[in-house]
Amino acid sequence: MIFDGRLFAMVSLTFYGGVNEIGGNKVLLEDGKARVFLDFGQSFTFGVDYFTGWLVPRTINGLGDYFEFGLLPKITGVYAEELLAFTDLPYTEPGTDAVFLSHAHVDHVNHIQFLDPKIRVCLGAGTKLFLEVMEETSSFCNYGEHQYETFRTGDKIKADGLVVEPVHVDHSIPAAYGFLIHTSEGTIVYTGDLRAHGPRRDMTEEFADKARESEPVAMICEGTRMVEAEKRKNYSEQQVEELSDEVTSSTDKIVFVTRYSRDMDRFRSFYNVARNNGRKIVISPKTACLLSKLVDDKRLELPDPLRDNDILVYYKRKKSGEFDEKDYYIWERQFMDKMVTCEFVHENQSKLIMDLDFYQFAELIDIRPSAGSHFIHSMSEPYSEEDIQDQVMHNWLDHFKMRFHQLHASGHLSRHQLASLIDTIKPSKIYPIHTENQQLFRKSCNNVQAIECGTGYRL
Ligand SMILES: [Zn+2]
Repeated sequence: MIFDGRLFAMVSLTFYGGVNEIGGNKVLLEDGKARVFLDFGQSFTFGVDYFTGWLVPRTINGLGDYFEFGLLPKITGVYAEELLAFTDLPYTEPGTDAVFLSHAHVDHVNHIQFLDPKIRVCLGAGTKLFLEVMEETSSFCNYGEHQYETFRTGDKIKADGLVVEPVHVDHSIPAAYGFLIHTSEGTIVYTGDLRAHGPRRDMTEEFADKARESEPVAMICEGTRMVEAEKRKNYSEQQVEELSDEVTSSTDKIVFVTRYSRDMDRFRSFYNVARNNGRKIVISPKTACLLSKLVDDKRLELPDPLRDNDILVYYKRKKSGEFDEKDYYIWERQFMDKMVTCEFVHENQSKLIMDLDFYQFAELIDIRPSAGSHFIHSMSEPYSEEDIQDQVMHNWLDHFKMRFHQLHASGHLSRHQLASLIDTIKPSKIYPIHTENQQLFRKSCNNVQAIECGTGYRL
């Protein structure tokens, strides 16, 4: 049922992002006077129709430049007062009790930077660590001041009469959760992002079991891979490790790897491959910083870059060019005992696997890898055949006569697995989110509610 306005004392869902697109989830859940958001992310195509290069929204204008083009929903009781100063949306005290973050990917968290600091931000303990490291190591990242409250599986968080139960899931970042939200009309399940072919498929199974037991009246379900036919090759995490091991064990050249920086399962896979082959893994100071924070969460079982002898940290030439401590940010300096430079990498190519992000490719000029070295692209394949970055990457690899390998495991359930998840949980109604193909859900299940951006749906 669709309605206008929000004065009904009934449970309703309004989707302000993640509608007909992969990412950007912002789901408003209302139950009487309770009002919470599930995720507050930024879509991957955010603002691309109006802003490009150095043409960016002006900070001085707060949310004004965003509202001009309808890039953010104009709703009261959500945004920080100072950001509304130059807009026609009057500031009101928060009408939202809390925002629940499922995991630390930008398409789920990035817009918390605009939230009224009086609104609670509830997030996994591991997600909090991720946000802290991102703020510490990136000059572009500032989530603002918030009342953070961390949770773990088993906790039950109250919000104006609602009870939110986070349950861990397997995804391509640690500390990912789905939610069971117990409302006055029954339980609503929110999947967040999830998969079942990573090392912790048991967590996704546990989530599915708990969701089923709650006999949900609704399920907000991600559908990244809800597609007619998949064009890309998708491996399991274990296959990525095995195939990377084959590449590494059959060469005496260096193996470079590009992966998503927050995918710690992938880091662990390459760390294992390095160890299995008597090699050391070379990481950036940024990854070292992330690891050194995440080791605090013992359940993640990640190595400590300062203590682990199989981890080395690569320092680029900066400022003086002499690898002087003063050349580096304070957060970078803590790993200098583990420092290796381009010369070391050049001289020890057969003994190393090296993390090398695309934006650090210029280091190859200093490293001078020998012809026939390997490059494992451990990320999604490009969406379009005219992808400029992909072309540039291949130009570099050709220039250095490197061999290319595409080895990746997705962070999401396949279409078939989504259908079986829904079949297990058996919700009364489905709301497809984080997908470009809402209509395909109808082929796998009944009671699918087609959703539009900004429209409220009563359960
Ligand atoms: Zn995600």
